[in-house]
Amino acid sequence: MDMERTGDAWWKNAVFYCLDVETFQDSNDDGVGDFRGLTHRIDYLAGLGVTCIWLMPFYPSDDRDDGYDITDYYAVDPRLGTLGDFVEFMRTARDRGIRVIADLVVNHTSRAHPWFQSARTDPRSPHRDWYVWRSDPPEETPPSDLVFPDQESSIWEWDDVAAQYYLHRFYKHQPDLNIASPALREEIRRIIGFWMELGLSGFRVDAVPFLLETEGIGHPLGFDPHDWLRDLRGFLNRRRGDGVLLGEVNLSYEQTRAFMGDDGGDELHMCLDFNMNQSVGLSLVREDAGSILHTLAAMPSLAHDNAWGQFVRNHDEWSLDKLTEAERREVFRAFGPRKDMQLYGRGLRRRMPSMLQDEARLRMVYSLAFSLPGAPVLFYGEEIGMAENLAIPGRLSVRAPMQWNAGRNGGFSGASSDVIRRPVVATKAFAPPAVNANDQDREPASLLNWMTRLIRRRRESPEIGFGTCRALKVAEAAIVALRHDWGPSSLLTMHNLSAEACTVSIPLSEVPNGGELVPLLGDAKITRGSEGVEVLLPPYGLLWGRISASE
Ligand code: MG
Repeated sequence: MDMERTGDAWWKNAVFYCLDVETFQDSNDDGVGDFRGLTHRIDYLAGLGVTCIWLMPFYPSDDRDDGYDITDYYAVDPRLGTLGDFVEFMRTARDRGIRVIADLVVNHTSRAHPWFQSARTDPRSPHRDWYVWRSDPPEETPPSDLVFPDQESSIWEWDDVAAQYYLHRFYKHQPDLNIASPALREEIRRIIGFWMELGLSGFRVDAVPFLLETEGIGHPLGFDPHDWLRDLRGFLNRRRGDGVLLGEVNLSYEQTRAFMGDDGGDELHMCLDFNMNQSVGLSLVREDAGSILHTLAAMPSLAHDNAWGQFVRNHDEWSLDKLTEAERREVFRAFGPRKDMQLYGRGLRRRMPSMLQDEARLRMVYSLAFSLPGAPVLFYGEEIGMAENLAIPGRLSVRAPMQWNAGRNGGFSGASSDVIRRPVVATKAFAPPAVNANDQDREPASLLNWMTRLIRRRRESPEIGFGTCRALKVAEAAIVALRHDWGPSSLLTMHNLSAEACTVSIPLSEVPNGGELVPLLGDAKITRGSEGVEVLLPPYGLLWGRISASE
């Protein structure tokens, strides 16, 4: 164990909080959230205990993909504020001890980006080869290769001005960038350098496999993309030693680990754990730990500085693409039986509270995610149990405005409700009068106060971030029991996936004679017998306990 190095690898014990500036807090009542509004809410985030904010794209954009279609990498979207507002936000966050990372979206630009406009109008433009062009009519794209099969039918689009086809793996208004161009790679370094200079602690890298893997589309790079990722990491960490890259890689474990650098772990520092996230979904439906334990056993070991990002829900549809067709249908039936709750045939466009309809079960799910190997990643509003608004199209249903109080627009904005960026959640049980941060702040037993406690427990339990994890064999199928060891320190976490109370026996070998299981979180009953320790978990109950050494 490298005790002295762990403080440096801050991301392994961090609590990330993902938010979109434009739906968080509007300061000037124009209906769009902004940096001044967010800055005003930093003390809320500091009180919650999150240690790193992940900002979704805030750059100028054509606004056809919620900011993921960028038109300028070196500025702030004027609707959200100025660079000056951004710097004030960064300063305030740093003052409260909160780091900030931001989305790095360099797989594609907006079609409106000046680079693309220059590339299409002039074949000799220095930006021409920053995009991927072809003259021959493309072969048909198999639907399985389409990211948005409901909206696009090909990954190639004809451009009249350029008189060529350009590649777009996402929407046709988002042409793919061509990292085979050395000048573009230099530009990406410049973008990273720019924002690091303004104080970012790193980036969440969007769509990593699409960015790097071009063989399948007949466009070989001429170099190993992993060498480039290693280069990029090297650049980042020369500029700032504690800078971190958190990747969006939704592939198998082995393929995902390759993006962290198979030997040496010198590419992405972290990857979001999509495999575990989907197994948790199946285990929840079945009230059976099997799927989680199976995935845990398949989880590859990582190099010292690498870690998983564990999440319950994110800003996209809840993708269940790793499950079998039958398993996916099983989850759909339980959590999103209606067609309008599903998306692309692979996911659900709902948030957790409306799917579970049970607060004890909801708490158990977050506690479980926080106990999995890696660092937890929250999406704004999860801490108060926000639901989705299905009236908002597609993936954006989960991106409704943050609910601060019971008033107009949930306190998100003083603008009239028909001009705000996105409508607030309308379902009575989850609308702002029923679910908001202010009321929960004043109610000791609220989800918000419980979540604050969970975050503090997680930060106080570095065994999870830095240690090794193994599943304990227990007889009860609904129980996930994990033991985390880090040097002399050990932590036991138990989660009951079922609606039935359950007594679990922990053998004496896990809690040696004279040692104790000291409860840290949860309302389990612990009894010490001659055979071991008995833990009574209520329906959807949970326990975090530290194993104290025997005298
Ligand atoms: Mg505003």
